[in-house]
Amino acid sequence: MNTKIWLSPPQMSGEEMKYIEEAFATNWIAPVGANVGEFENDLCKYTGSKHALALSSGTAAIHVALDVLGVTKDDIVLCQSLTFVASANPIVYLGANPVFIDSEPTTWNMCPEALETAIKHFVNLGKKPKAVIVVHLYGMPARLREIIYVCRKYGIPMVEDAAEALGSEYFGQKLGTLGDLGILSFNGNKIITTSGGGAVLSGREEYIKKARHLSTQARDEAAHYEHSEIGYNYRLSNVCAGIGRGQMEVVANRVSGRRSNFSLYKNFLVQIPGITFQEEPERFSSNRWLTVVLFDEGKSTLSAIEIKSHFDKMNIETRLIWKPMHLQPVFRKAYYFGGKCSEKLFATGLCLPSGSDLREAEIFRICTQIVDLHKSKRG
Ligand SMILES: *Cc1c(COP(=O)(O)O)cnc(C)c1O
Repeated sequence: MNTKIWLSPPQMSGEEMKYIEEAFATNWIAPVGANVGEFENDLCKYTGSKHALALSSGTAAIHVALDVLGVTKDDIVLCQSLTFVASANPIVYLGANPVFIDSEPTTWNMCPEALETAIKHFVNLGKKPKAVIVVHLYGMPARLREIIYVCRKYGIPMVEDAAEALGSEYFGQKLGTLGDLGILSFNGNKIITTSGGGAVLSGREEYIKKARHLSTQARDEAAHYEHSEIGYNYRLSNVCAGIGRGQMEVVANRVSGRRSNFSLYKNFLVQIPGITFQEEPERFSSNRWLTVVLFDEGKSTLSAIEIKSHFDKMNIETRLIWKPMHLQPVFRKAYYFGGKCSEKLFATGLCLPSGSDLREAEIFRICTQIVDLHKSKRG
């Protein structure tokens, strides 16, 4: 049996241990220290964000971002339906109600029209939504210009869930820096990793100040321990931030590696009828965190689920597209605005192995199997 091909494994630069050793040498084995500050500087430099706060996970970052915006019990937060559950869970942590919005077919991300319909619905009921969470799925920028226009029109702040989109660009600007707040994830399978970690980005200093306060147990200034609100213990470990510093040295290279995976897959598979890809509109640049292919139900002889079970047997990890939140049992009572776009993507899409260290020969092996399956089906 061939060695396992993973969907999106970590890839170290080799410089991580140097920073980890510094943490040990200086005895800053804590969620504070030089690596944390330097990692935040690296994030600002790379993304162009004015401020960054390193946290223990992307989920923690969304939780804190919503708390900074004052989301509280019984508020409404509008969230893209087609996403990983971590985008929506923090809404519930705060006692607020998630309302899910459909995607549009070009970017697969939040549909600006469905967003406006939802906002109007709740504004008419006298219940203006408190925040909007837009996701850049698999690294593809959402239609931000239209979404930001709608959010500003009604005065609702927007959080960019850029957990999958570090290094992606929208009209030349790095994702995570276009919303009122942006969040990143450095989990093991993301574009870079700190083994587990996340960050909040913002151009507004008071937001980051507030986020820092909340993520360190909301301690007030006093000689003793004084608290006037509920906080969290969410800062990133100085040891993990050392991994992050090593990873930031090669982030541009990791993005180009993933983008080259996408091109190779596309060149190979485009010959098969009914297979399509997530295409970049002009001036949208995806980091291609994962390469996802759609098997059109009418035109393709193959289905995503068939191919997945074939690759399971071949020791090759693939993954179905995220199941939309409005179809999840845990959110069965939540409102949903839109049509069938996200459901259709869910039914037809498959994520292919996309690690930044994936070799051309491995992509060749994967594509050859898809082509062979197609041929055997066609008879
Ligand atoms: C990974 C991910 C998160 C959560 O990040 P963690 O660091 O795993 O907590 C949030 N949103 C999306 C879209 C993600 O893919």
